[in-house]
Amino acid sequence: MGLSELQIILKKYYGYGQFRPMQHEIVQAAISGKDVLVLMPTGGGKSICYQVPALYLPGITVVISPLIALMHDQVEALKRNGIAAAYLNSSQDWQEQAAIERQCASGQLKLLYVSPEKLLSDNFQFLLKQLQVSLFAVDEAHCISFWGHDFRLEYTQLSKIKEHFPDVPLMALTATADKLTRQDILQQLALRQPQVFVASFDRPNLSLTVLPAQDRIKRILEFLEERPFKAGIIYCLSRKACESVAARLQAAGYNAGFYHAALPHQQRMKTQQAFLNDDIQIVCATIAFGMGIDKSNVRWVIHYNLPKNIESYYQEIGRAGRDGLPADTLLFYSFADVMKQRSMLEDLPQQRRDLQEAKLERLQQYAEAHICRRKVLLAYFGEVQEENCGNCDVCRNPHQSFDGTVLAQKAFSAVARSKESLPVSLLIDVLRGSDTEEVRRKGLFRIKTYGAGRDVHPLDWRNYIQQLINTGLLDIAYDQHQKLRLNGASQEVLFGGKKVALYKADLNAVPKVKAKPKNEVAAGGELFERLRKLRKKLADEQGVPPYVIFSDKTLHEMAADCPVTEDSMLQVSGVGRVKMENYGHDFITEIMAFRKDQDEKGEKAKGETHLVTLDLLKTGLSPEGIAEKRSMQLMTVYSHIATLYLQGRLESLEKFISQAELEKIGDALYVHGIDSQLKPLFDSLEGKYPYHKIRLGIAYYQKNGL
Ligand code: ADP
Ligand code: ZN
Repeated sequence: MGLSELQIILKKYYGYGQFRPMQHEIVQAAISGKDVLVLMPTGGGKSICYQVPALYLPGITVVISPLIALMHDQVEALKRNGIAAAYLNSSQDWQEQAAIERQCASGQLKLLYVSPEKLLSDNFQFLLKQLQVSLFAVDEAHCISFWGHDFRLEYTQLSKIKEHFPDVPLMALTATADKLTRQDILQQLALRQPQVFVASFDRPNLSLTVLPAQDRIKRILEFLEERPFKAGIIYCLSRKACESVAARLQAAGYNAGFYHAALPHQQRMKTQQAFLNDDIQIVCATIAFGMGIDKSNVRWVIHYNLPKNIESYYQEIGRAGRDGLPADTLLFYSFADVMKQRSMLEDLPQQRRDLQEAKLERLQQYAEAHICRRKVLLAYFGEVQEENCGNCDVCRNPHQSFDGTVLAQKAFSAVARSKESLPVSLLIDVLRGSDTEEVRRKGLFRIKTYGAGRDVHPLDWRNYIQQLINTGLLDIAYDQHQKLRLNGASQEVLFGGKKVALYKADLNAVPKVKAKPKNEVAAGGELFERLRKLRKKLADEQGVPPYVIFSDKTLHEMAADCPVTEDSMLQVSGVGRVKMENYGHDFITEIMAFRKDQDEKGEKAKGETHLVTLDLLKTGLSPEGIAEKRSMQLMTVYSHIATLYLQGRLESLEKFISQAELEKIGDALYVHGIDSQLKPLFDSLEGKYPYHKIRLGIAYYQKNGL
């Protein structure tokens, strides 16, 4: 099983020229019979890791997946690549299931996707025993862990796989990398001497940006303005937010839908399908959305609210840019969301609650980082990145710290003088000297620091106070209406000479789309749009999402390379043999049509230049004058004049050629024929008449006859 044999499979079925880092090693471990644990980020390319062994090995590979909706799409995508695959789950009636079971028994399938319930049912176990199972793959394996973020009870039964099939290799795959979860997977699935592969969690094509959660809609509209027609997801915490954000975007003219758990199943499926089919640009959704989708051309993800931890965040942003092309992510961060997330943990048993709170804190640290965000993220997944990434807001706009000691002292003094009775918003009112009803009622205007921070914008104050809380210089009493409290560190700032560094928020950090070179947009852009339309048309005809036919990346490559032969089309990444057969020719035809249109456009552009000459003639300019002005050959100008005459745009040629000259040229044309080339005419006229006069003579006789 040299690299080449596996590479041939990869090229033949998927059209990919190379394995991504680690895919090859993982595939080799699996086909040599080892148990394997694969940790790879969302969009990293896990499917290939078990699908290529499935194709290589004799027999059938059984894939256990918790997501029924995803099964359908994955099987569809496999079939389009010419791979014999099917799925079995509770969404099918018994006849359908029986038909697939027969296909399994007769050895027609290479891959079978099943839900965990189905896997463990008695009749399926019975069927399995009669098959030659080459490999078990447990996708989303973190669902097995009580400590993970997607715990599913059915998954805990999967330990039975090894009991029943001790000799069949098992591959567990997940995008969750924390150690507890990893241990759980290894133990519960009872993997034997497993080889653990931890791929890099870096997804360099995803840009990272964190913004304070102020003026969110305005920021989102700015963001969208730069990304016309680019598909994206906005994650919100509440159902209400999903609906209201979608409504605001619709009001601004965007094609946006919403998706949350309270909607009827049918409506949710309809929205999801419309998004997959590129019929809706934007979906505002609770985290329920996206779990079951594989859409590779999601170009951006926005978190309207803070997620609950870094794993969830990374999984959610990971849904952007699966095709490897640049994609943007934007997280809105607010203290209000931190408190909401904390309150949602209140009912958990103590041990789990502590763990989840610690995870939430790690996410806060990420959101507040003043160093390259990718460094912070990757450190969470246990990776050290030496260089700054250059693709996060901090790298783009390094944060400047300043001496915030006096500001901190003003805030702490107000907290102290109000007898620690102020929540954040009221503290800001006091510092700013706002004359509100509450300030008056509580007599807060009498405090000595009232108005001491008038010169600082309230949004900046909010941001600074948050920084003070998060760096432990100020406490917040969650159990007492979020009132602010001083602690030992605050005392040191007030009285002990302790210095405080603060950072100013950059509200203009909305990632800009990198400007492309103009001609790339013009050439690649126009053809890409045509190919995209063709893809959409084919997809609609066949009832599949467009990305199932070809990814954006594949279309971009086609638009750049313009392949018009089968061989060159097969060179494009993502064009495997079966896709070549099914779609290749449609795309080749479109590329050829595009080229033809381009040529015609070019000719037309050329063809119209004689009209410019006509305009200049009308201004009284001589042919010589025009040739000079337009930096062209005199002969070209006379050709224009000939054409203009033939088209009837010029009444007569008398300004340019005399009657006597016409007669001599007419004689020569009698001898050589009206279709003669210029050179023999020139020669037979003994060089007495210049070429341009001959050209005009021909035009005269073409129009009036010899
Ligand atoms: P995951 O399951 O890890 O989230 P997928 O298996 O869906 O990721 O892969 C993400 C995308 O990357 C898919 O569009 C897939 O076809 C593509 N991909 C995977 N491996 C390769 C490769 N070796 N070369 C090019 N594209 C790849
Ligand atoms: Zn960075």
